[in-house]
Amino acid sequence: MDRLNRLLSTPRKTATLWAICAGAVAFAACAAPQQHHQSAPPSYRMLVRGEPGFNAPAVHAPHAERNLGAARVVPPYSLERVISTFGDCRGRRQHNGIDLAGVGDDAGLGTPIFSMTDAVVTLIGRPEDDPDAFGTYDKRPGHTERAGRLLPRSAEIPGYGKVYFFTRKPGRWRSGVVIATRALSGPLEGHQIRYMHMAAIHPSLAVGDLVLAGQEIGLMGGTAIATSSPHVHIDIEDPQGRRVDVAPFLGLEPDTKVCRPKR
Ligand SMILES: [Zn+2]
Repeated sequence: MDRLNRLLSTPRKTATLWAICAGAVAFAACAAPQQHHQSAPPSYRMLVRGEPGFNAPAVHAPHAERNLGAARVVPPYSLERVISTFGDCRGRRQHNGIDLAGVGDDAGLGTPIFSMTDAVVTLIGRPEDDPDAFGTYDKRPGHTERAGRLLPRSAEIPGYGKVYFFTRKPGRWRSGVVIATRALSGPLEGHQIRYMHMAAIHPSLAVGDLVLAGQEIGLMGGTAIATSSPHVHIDIEDPQGRRVDVAPFLGLEPDTKVCRPKR
């Protein structure tokens, strides 16, 4: 993880609040895009305790806290195909997240995923940063099969360049391409939110950057997913380090069942 830590601890001269009003999500902040500059954003060092992104040190962003007042949680993706919920079993463990499957042509591969909240980016993990942790891309040409469908392994995506959707090795964290953020306002203020299995993180983003609710943060993919449909896995940790069901924040029924694995 040394390489990753070095990468994440590189101080940036400015932090820009990007207002990319992409996709179908309408949000008030896009009506009057603003840029907020910080003279010296804090350097960031990832502390690996358990899982990537969780229990990461808070990045103090006073400008953001002052200017991002909206109490908004926006859907990160279409809620049309929820394929796994909070209480589902994953082997002997509870899922503790929600899986939103890609929709559209090619199972939604390459379609945008949005930040749920105004937030600061606390972690970006990609195979190119640390293949041991985050896997290795499947760069073979052609198609692969997932959930009975033949899907392209890569595509050119405007703004991103060539994007690989899948991995050949899942990596230690089994997250694939992952971004974690800490919400700055609204009902999830102070919570860490992780988005996993993505194809790519938006090239403009780095650790310490601020994102708006509804801002595009990356693309739907199937990294570190073995057989199931491409999906984004989202999970939330509250400031006390407890996992929280995402569903009610998205207007969905909470999943109250508890995984009791058979012995
Ligand atoms: Zn999941």
